This record gives sequence, structure tokens and C-alpha cells, in this order.
Amino acid sequence: MCKVIAVASGKGGTGKTTTVAAVSSCLAALGYKTLCVDFDAGLRNLDLSLCMSDFAIADFMDVLDGRAALTEACHESPLIPNLFFLAAPVSYITDEPSSEAVKQMFDDIRGEFDYCLVDSPAGIGANFRLAHADADMSVIVTYGDIAAIRDASQAADVIRGMGVGELRLLVNRVMPRNFKYMKATIDTVIDAIGVQLIGVIREDDSIFLSLHDGAPLILYKKRRAAYDFLDAARRIAGEDVPLRMR
Ligand code: ADP
Ligand code: MG
Repeated sequence: MCKVIAVASGKGGTGKTTTVAAVSSCLAALGYKTLCVDFDAGLRNLDLSLCMSDFAIADFMDVLDGRAALTEACHESPLIPNLFFLAAPVSYITDEPSSEAVKQMFDDIRGEFDYCLVDSPAGIGANFRLAHADADMSVIVTYGDIAAIRDASQAADVIRGMGVGELRLLVNRVMPRNFKYMKATIDTVIDAIGVQLIGVIREDDSIFLSLHDGAPLILYKKRRAAYDFLDAARRIAGEDVPLRMR
């Protein structure tokens, strides 16, 4: 049965798009037919992290408005088999789509895929809510600073209020020296947000470099963050993977 996972944060720039691209790629590499949908209308860039800009033709609003069938709008990655991509519109959505159209699109997605990851916009506005409209799980991406933690906590409250069944936390850009300076640990972040941990991703310049060089992170240099995202993907898939602070 397909699982729809919205990836959210509250604060911008915490690593949602990076997470959607890397976790979806890992789930696909593990053999699951995986769709990732860019819901960041107006500020889309998931296509860049997937190296699929040439495939951002029809978008999810074309599907919702009936201009394109889901199968026409979703494209398989030429680099990672089993990985599919559905783009966001270039402009911000001002006319909210009908809930029937959204439900129909996710029903169709559930019939085709094992996992669907939704790249939610930052903030807690209308498009963020739309990204969570049919989610079974929400993964909140934060880093360890107090501003990101506060916004992640706020986003978690909104997501709980929307009735999303499972919430999980992914702590990104971890640098042990910063945690040491703050006299904090990953547990401090978990306790502040009150959400169960699904992954810890280390600070890794291979994310910047792979984006610059036009290669998906998991095919780039299999270093820190790529391994950490693979562990998170395996936990999402139900495997018992211990937390490794390498
Ligand atoms: P969001 O989608 O939440 O706005 P992005 O995924 O676009 O965030 O990431 C924002 C920036 O942070 C990007 O430049 C990305 O390369 C960088 N980044 C994300 N995660 C990491 C990490 N673990 N290590 C180093 N840089 C990272
Ligand atoms: Mg983003």
C-alpha cells in the first residue's frame, strides 16, 4: 500500500528539498516505486536536486485542473530507475484547488506507487496545508538552532491539528562542535519539538557540490549525508536501522 509522506519544516532552508530528493532516490534504489512531488509552487527547485529540470513540463496543477493525466505528468528519472518526479507550477497558487481534485490525484498516486514524497513549501500557509492534504506521515526537517527548532515545533502543532497520523523528525546539517557549543544533544532537539526521530544528517559539502555538478547526491560521492539519508529511507521503509553518529 502506498504511503504519502509530506516533508515540512516551518522555517525555510532547513533541507526539505534535499531530503525529498535524497530519501526518494534511496527508496527507489531499495526497489520501491517512488514518486516525489514538488509542492513548492513558485519557488520550485526539486527538479534541480533530482537533475530532472528537463522533465518539469506538466505540473501538479495541470493534473488537478484536468489538463494532464497523472501518468503523463510524472516522469521516471533517467539516472535512478523506480524514481518518478511530478513538478510544481512556476507561479504561486492563488486559487486553491478543490479538495475533490486533490483527493482524486492522491487516489491515482496511491494506485501507482509504493511511496510518494511531497516537498512542502516553508511556512504554515495554504500551500503547506495543501501539501499535507492526504499525507499519512509528515517528516519535519530542522537543524539544531533555536530559530529552526521553534518553527519546527510550531509546524508540528499545525500538522497534528490537521490529523496527519504519523510525525517524524529529521535533524539536518548536524555539526558536533555546534552541539557542543550549545551544550545540547540530538535529544535536546527531540524534546523541544516533541516528535520521534527518523534520521540525523551530518553537514556535508557533497550536497552543494553534487547540485553544482548536476549529479544526484546518492550517485555522487557516497559520503556522510548520502549514507545518513539511506539510513533514514530504510527506517521509513520499516527497517530497524540503529542511529550511527559516525
Ligand atoms: P529547503 O527546501 O528546506 O528550503 P534545501 O534542501 O533547498 O532547503 O537546502 C537549503 C540549502 O542547504 C541548500 O543550499 C543545500 O545544499 C544546503 N544543505 C541542506 N542540507 C545540507 C547538509 N546536510 N549539509 C550541507 N548543506 C546542506
Ligand atoms: Mg525547498
